[in-house]
Amino acid sequence: MIISEQKPLEEILESLKEYKKIFIVGCGDCAATCKVGGEPELLKMKQLLEEHGKTILGMCIPEAPCVASKVKTEFAKNMKLLREAEAILVLACGLGIQSVKDNDRLGLAVLPGCNTLFGAVIDAQGNFYEKCSMCGECVLDVTGGICPITLCSKGLLNGPCGGMDKGKCEVDKDKDCAWVLIYRELEQKNKLKKFREIKKARDYKKSTKPHKLTLPS
Ligand code: SF4
Ligand code: SF4
Repeated sequence: MIISEQKPLEEILESLKEYKKIFIVGCGDCAATCKVGGEPELLKMKQLLEEHGKTILGMCIPEAPCVASKVKTEFAKNMKLLREAEAILVLACGLGIQSVKDNDRLGLAVLPGCNTLFGAVIDAQGNFYEKCSMCGECVLDVTGGICPITLCSKGLLNGPCGGMDKGKCEVDKDKDCAWVLIYRELEQKNKLKKFREIKKARDYKKSTKPHKLTLPS
């Protein structure tokens, strides 16, 4: 799940200041779950923009705007309205925004309505937790299923650092030290041998951007 939040309205209005006729695109997946890209949010955005003198020509909510085929399907249905538009405001994550741009055959201005924050899991109460930084070299097998790259403030592979205090992180005293959590987890599973193994330095080439992956046919 990609977590995003709506940009402040003033910022959106500033980016739209050269354009009057706007088409809004949402996201039926992650951004809808984050309550920034679903139907209620698009309707609210439409109302706010109209109050600021904009003409909202139409809206659509692709099931997942990060998938080209989903954007193309929605754009085909709305082509008449899109031809009149000057700009598209996208209420989705940065992936959705760029996918909309990539699949807009009309060359319209495609503008972000959201800031993308992190990839997360969702607990039973609906809270979002960042758990993975997509490092390209997963070490969860030797860290008891707890990610040190993401949960340790310094991303240490062989923690804890000298600043750990009573199980808390020196960078954020409200946060448990990731390496204490890893130790406890491995201790409970009788796997402390793994904790004592020196983990070799990460291959940072694996996290250089941009990534591209082509699946074998
Ligand atoms: S080690 Fe952490 S950041 Fe890397 S892939 Fe595994 S969970 Fe993600
Ligand atoms: S105290 Fe623990 S979580 Fe915080 S930076 Fe040091 S090793 Fe990482």
